[in-house]
Amino acid sequence: MDEQTLQEVARRLHVAWKTTVLTGAGLSAASGVPTFRGEEGLWRTHRPEDLASVDGFRRDPHTVWEWTLERKRLIAECAPNRAHEVLADWSRRLPGFTVLTQNVDGLHDRAGTISVLELHGSIWEVGCALQCVDSPRRWRDERLEYPQTPPTCFYCGALLRPGEVLFGEQLPLDSALRAAQATQRCDVMLVIGTTAVVEPAASFIEMAKSPSTLVVEINPEPSQKAAWLMDVVLKAPAVQVLDRLEEELRRLEELASTSEDA
Ligand code: NAD
Ligand code: ZN
Repeated sequence: MDEQTLQEVARRLHVAWKTTVLTGAGLSAASGVPTFRGEEGLWRTHRPEDLASVDGFRRDPHTVWEWTLERKRLIAECAPNRAHEVLADWSRRLPGFTVLTQNVDGLHDRAGTISVLELHGSIWEVGCALQCVDSPRRWRDERLEYPQTPPTCFYCGALLRPGEVLFGEQLPLDSALRAAQATQRCDVMLVIGTTAVVEPAASFIEMAKSPSTLVVEINPEPSQKAAWLMDVVLKAPAVQVLDRLEEELRRLEELASTSEDA
């Protein structure tokens, strides 16, 4: 990680009026939540794109639920890491700060982040597969097992579906719009721990690009997009980079407040 680049990013964050952060599975890796590559069990024997898809759920809701419950149990054992904590702190301290996350693990929320948009929904929510009229679109359901899988809708008796956005589904319109708003004309965009290939999350990076925006990738293995889409790359794990950025930012804030006092 290049120290000069890190200091420049901290300086831009310090003067920014609007900062947008796009996070992916890599952010939660240090919490013990596996990313989508090279994992055990159902993660390895099933491609998420096949299983966690609209067709996959229609074909085999039982296996989709087994996979979802396996991940829920695993995530229930995990806690937010230092990178989640720094972002939570910034969400209360920096102006115009929004986190757009592709993660479904709820760890941003648990870290106390305000203004987080869960683009792909949440593993801690469920919905009625038939969207029956009596049920809300999604509701919270933290159960780690059910008397029977797949579980059924409390309102109409049809199947329940996981609260995550499945492959082949559109993002709900309200979150797509809010994400676009958060992205446009931001001063800094941090792209952390994502391969940035799943759409439309990736197009938010393109949307953010402007001559006055600094787009920063934070990833020990920068994505394919790094070369042409990112202005700068901090090639290191999220925890390490955010910890150092926070240190620099505090130093700049202190300098600014002492020069105001003088
Ligand atoms: P991905 O699994 O495709 O890629 C993970 C990225 O994180 C890679 O680029 C990798 O180099 C990087 N990475 C690994 N360790 C890191 C670290 N310590 N610090 C920073 N970066 C690190 O994940 P994705 O791009 O988020 O897309 C996959 C899809 O899978 C998303 O739609 C997401 O909803 C879903 N998913 C979510 C979770 C979760 O909720 N935690 C976990 C797995 C997958
Ligand atoms: Zn129902």
